[in-house]
Amino acid sequence: MKSHSIRTETLKRCSCLLKTSCRQLDHPIMFLGHNLCKLAEHGKLQELRLDVLKKACIEFKVDVKGPKTRKVSFAGPLQDFIVIQRSKGCKYCHNV
Ligand SMILES: [Zn+2]
Repeated sequence: MKSHSIRTETLKRCSCLLKTSCRQLDHPIMFLGHNLCKLAEHGKLQELRLDVLKKACIEFKVDVKGPKTRKVSFAGPLQDFIVIQRSKGCKYCHNV
């Protein structure tokens, strides 16, 4: 029993390392209390406030396209980001 828990702990640590290097995120992808997977599913990322969209793009290292005063410049690339990151196991983004 004891050896099993140690192995699980090691596995956890390895998957954490992987997460940082290839930016695999836990689903649903949450940012400042917003469910980005759910918003992307409904095409509602533009409903987030501009400053939230900006911060999300910085956090997820998403390249902004277009004028930084328009929500669509952030929401568009962020939508693409969710598509890239989508997970079959996620009930929100699996069919984005
Ligand atoms: Zn998701």
